[in-house]
Amino acid sequence: MIATSMAVIQHVCSAPLARVMLPRSLVFSRSRGLSILSATRASHAVSQQVLLGMSEHELQQLALEFGQQSYRGKQLHHLIYKRKVKEIEDFSHLPQAFRNDLQEAGWKVGRSPIYHTVTAADGTVKLLIKLEDNRLIETVGIPVEDDKGSMRLTACVSSQVGCPLRCSFCATGKGGFSRNLKRHEIIEQVLAIEELFKNRVTNVVFMGMGEPMLNLNSVLEAHRCLNKDVQIGQRMITISTVGVPNTIRKLASHKLQSTLAVSLHAPNQKLREAIVPSAKSYPLDAIMKDCRDYFLDTSRRVSFEYALLAGVNDTTEHAVELAQLLHEWGRGNHVNLIPFNPIEGSEYQRPHRKAVAAFAAALESRKITVSVRQTRGLDASAACGQLRNKFQKNPLLAESENLQSQADVAVAC
Ligand code: SF4
Repeated sequence: MIATSMAVIQHVCSAPLARVMLPRSLVFSRSRGLSILSATRASHAVSQQVLLGMSEHELQQLALEFGQQSYRGKQLHHLIYKRKVKEIEDFSHLPQAFRNDLQEAGWKVGRSPIYHTVTAADGTVKLLIKLEDNRLIETVGIPVEDDKGSMRLTACVSSQVGCPLRCSFCATGKGGFSRNLKRHEIIEQVLAIEELFKNRVTNVVFMGMGEPMLNLNSVLEAHRCLNKDVQIGQRMITISTVGVPNTIRKLASHKLQSTLAVSLHAPNQKLREAIVPSAKSYPLDAIMKDCRDYFLDTSRRVSFEYALLAGVNDTTEHAVELAQLLHEWGRGNHVNLIPFNPIEGSEYQRPHRKAVAAFAAALESRKITVSVRQTRGLDASAACGQLRNKFQKNPLLAESENLQSQADVAVAC
């Protein structure tokens, strides 16, 4: 499923500054280097000692810190983002001494191993990535070939390990919440999809595990890097939310040219609270006002996500009420209907195809543009969070005990 939402937890640097040892090669440049060192450290305070996520300028500064010429920083940038090299020891373009210095000072690229993959017949691949603390996150790669044979490859990325919001229909919410992802842990998901598909990712949607707005700082940093360094157009990136008070306005202030997708799932507050418990703290009218302001501030149309749950929110009356709500608050609205992906233990059912079509027609006849999300990878079973839940029930403390063989699991964003 497509996730939507979050709560801002500040990054806490796990590596104290004292651990950053001065490299041998810094000795000669120490007089000039110390001011650079402090400035650069301050700018890396968020993801200390992880190269992935740093801009070309920051990498050039880092090279200078290590007594290298700044073009070594450009080489680092090329190796990380173009060649996608995962280990410093494999930076064969760089002098061995520089590589040693980086490693001795505790730097790493910031790529994690792929722990498990499930491939559906339609080519959708769901990956589990194993983070440094043995936690698992899901990422989905969705390839779509157009009429001319060129491929659009969408990465559906997670922004948190689990999710604290517990939407009633969501497997991720049922699995609980562990922590926010750091910026490099978001970026590496896109690189992992590129590696697996041997193709460039063209689109990124923040619709995997977690609520992006609860980890907005890291999401914005990852967004910058994906746009500037990995070179994915801003318009090809979608940030999704179930709604966290005050965050849509904050996002609007960054004036990104990316799409904001807001998960409504209901046309009125009462029903919404029943489906999305966190809606109690963010009334529907307040969300709609923030969405209208987002459009006014950015000129970017807001897309509304609506998970269709059989017999709960999928009647034409609901569609009529939804159309009224959207017209009341703005223009240029788009609704993305998501027929529910059944998950184990859920009280909800997938709506009948006719109900989906009738819902879409009722919206269209009221001049709301509609798309119906194709369910990808349903053959391997489905829903965001399901695969992770299966493996993360027993935290991974040691190298896998054959969990790989339990492969009867889920796919689909
Ligand atoms: S519980 Fe699921 S749907 Fe709700 S915000 Fe979290 S990830 Fe998204």
